[in-house]
Amino acid sequence: MSTDDAAPAPLEPAPVLHLRGPILLGPEQEIAEAWVADGRIHHRRPELGVGTEIREIDGMVVPGLADLHCHLGIGDGGGGTTLATARQQALTDRDTGVLLIRDAGSIIDTSPLQRHADLPRLIRCGRHLARTRRYLIGYADELEPAELPAAVTREAGRGDGWVKLVGDWIDRELGDLSPCWDGEDFAAAARAAHAAGARITTHTFDEETLPLALDAGFDCLEHATGLDDETIARVAGAGVPVVTTLVNVDEFESYASQGEAKFPAYAAHMRRLRAARFQRTRDAHDAGVRLLVGTDAGGVLGHGIIHDELDELSRAGLSGTAILDAAAWAPRAFLGVPGLEDGAPADLVVVPGDPRTDHRLLRTPRHVVLGGALVA
Ligand SMILES: [Zn+2]
Repeated sequence: MSTDDAAPAPLEPAPVLHLRGPILLGPEQEIAEAWVADGRIHHRRPELGVGTEIREIDGMVVPGLADLHCHLGIGDGGGGTTLATARQQALTDRDTGVLLIRDAGSIIDTSPLQRHADLPRLIRCGRHLARTRRYLIGYADELEPAELPAAVTREAGRGDGWVKLVGDWIDRELGDLSPCWDGEDFAAAARAAHAAGARITTHTFDEETLPLALDAGFDCLEHATGLDDETIARVAGAGVPVVTTLVNVDEFESYASQGEAKFPAYAAHMRRLRAARFQRTRDAHDAGVRLLVGTDAGGVLGHGIIHDELDELSRAGLSGTAILDAAAWAPRAFLGVPGLEDGAPADLVVVPGDPRTDHRLLRTPRHVVLGGALVA
């Protein structure tokens, strides 16, 4: 593929939009109407030149959805993609209403995509950092503990304020999941990230990893299938968010059956984690843990699946309001990206009804508006 395929499409000159709302500013805060002009949202009708075309838009308005854990630039079955394919992945996500992505680790440098005005806002982690031979082959920079702090510093410089550490994986000698690092390694990694002005998150499936990451002061937890009552209370108390990836956790059955013959303890462990996934998610939510939506698309799972993840949160027992919070307001607040405040970039989705009472309405948006332009 030529690099030209990765070129951004110029956005069409955007008309002024009159959003006839309601506009959901937060879970319990709404205004009746708003306007979009010059790429931004306006809570009051802006001054417009004589004869300015205004397009009337009906429907409930929510902030563009956020995917806090996906992988642009990792292809189906693993391996780095071309930039053009990464762009297609981002477009696929965008057209489902995802307008903000935190990339949780990529094999290629996707930073050129940040200049494409027609793609979701992208916040990158750089490359995954993993222990030698303790992750999917070819995804990560593989390291030993002595090399970890310097690698964290390097990735903090390459990403957009986030570093991703693979905290646990199968230990083939042990035949089970186990932490890849000890407590001092986690602490040294967190210190290096924070000293570089970045935040650090960890991939974690295993129960034993969570206390290590919490002791070390990690800023976010990915998957976190190993949560139990004790660690849920700690996570809630620390205010550390958990990025749910329930579509991916459903896949644990296939990992279990693939590993069963050689690693029966691992297979049983993965099945236990999978079986507890909805209850654990519900318990975390009820305990006040901030849940953020992640799809883990890229690699094993294809892009464009955020609505499947929202359905999984519904199966876990979250209300429509809680699901929308986890997909829109909470991640934006956590990443410091505005929502629908007066003057914010107009990144929003227009829905044909109230998604707080039925999250499935988000699956069929009337319009997706990015930077003030109607893109889908
Ligand atoms: Zn991932």
